[in-house]
Amino acid sequence: MIKKIEHIGIAVKNMDESNALFESLFGKAHYKTEAVESEGVKTSFFKMGKTKIELLEATSSDSPIAKFIEKKGEGIHHIAFDVKDIKAEVKRLEKEGFHILNTTPKQGADNKLVVFLHPKSTNGVLIELCQEID
Ligand code: ZN
Repeated sequence: MIKKIEHIGIAVKNMDESNALFESLFGKAHYKTEAVESEGVKTSFFKMGKTKIELLEATSSDSPIAKFIEKKGEGIHHIAFDVKDIKAEVKRLEKEGFHILNTTPKQGADNKLVVFLHPKSTNGVLIELCQEID
């Protein structure tokens, strides 16, 4: 079951500049930054009510974020949905014919298990499913 939009991920070139930009836009500071080594990214989170904005900056040139910015420029990178049981969702969505990039959930930012759906099977939108690790 998909519960809600957990966060929206935005690819940025320069985290310090973008933190300052979004802090002045939102009128509040980001509440945490976190590196995800396996993805080659640095993240920064803003709480927006029950959802969040996640800024993503590449930490290496072969990071998916570096490649995304190279191709499309900065902007919305993915939408993440909070799910109750990520393994059950993977099974359900595979059956429905969605192209899942990693069928085994991996450790993401913000204490979450995550899987990604290929944008080709979701109208060009990269979808992240995430489940809080308890
Ligand atoms: Zn995300």
